[in-house]
Amino acid sequence: MSKRRMIVGGNWKMFKTPSEAISTAKALKVKVINVQDVEIVICPPFPDLVPVHEMIKGSNIKLGGQNLYWEDQGAFTGEVSARMLKDAGCDYVIVGHSERRHVFGEQNHEINKKVRKALAEGLTPIFCVGEKIDERKSGLTEKIVEEQMRTGLAEVSLSAAEDLVVAYEPVWAIGTGENATPDQAAEVHAFVRRILGELFGEELSITIRIQYGGSVKPANADQLMSQNNIDGALVGGASLDAESFAAIIKSAENVAR
Ligand code: PEP
Repeated sequence: MSKRRMIVGGNWKMFKTPSEAISTAKALKVKVINVQDVEIVICPPFPDLVPVHEMIKGSNIKLGGQNLYWEDQGAFTGEVSARMLKDAGCDYVIVGHSERRHVFGEQNHEINKKVRKALAEGLTPIFCVGEKIDERKSGLTEKIVEEQMRTGLAEVSLSAAEDLVVAYEPVWAIGTGENATPDQAAEVHAFVRRILGELFGEELSITIRIQYGGSVKPANADQLMSQNNIDGALVGGASLDAESFAAIIKSAENVAR
């Protein structure tokens, strides 16, 4: 298998105050200091971004937001813009996470505006797709994922697509402790790669990283990330602890070699 630049992201969701986030980031920084072959991203809550950025500045850990709004500024109470994230030190932003889709009702066309805005402002979107359990049981996984991709990535130019990261996160595996099997994940990842090829051409599609997300832990990370087309992981629960997140990052490093 050719060497892939793996990318492992930590989605801290609505966990950790600024001071808690700083100490986790500090502990993580020490544990991954020698990791070179893996892109490492942490996505803390908004109030934590600036102090966490101060803590990780100059290290091999990058910062991401968990969401953004597509306008630059204005009367949009509770929202945050791409420029604000950039200025706070972010290089990445999670877009269309399943909790945004299913708890807050985000739609594919809104997610598309967010993806395009992130790219336009120089943020790498970690664009999330994935089916719910009833959709999987009804044999609709590919249909759902294809719809999410075709609408979510509409009007993304070829040059912008180079900066894209896709995360396949089956909703039934997120925060449940029940991960997709490596075969189940590999099957959908191959499908995601195929749709990326249809959207952006085969040559470009093979360079776009596709993370797997859904109950990734140190115990299953190796097996999942060694599958074809799995170029890293987006990790929720296990990223909250510096030790378990560092173990997952080290799995990615082993797979990358
Ligand atoms: C996530 O929040 O994107 C996620 C995959 O969560 P968990 O690892 O806890 O399933």
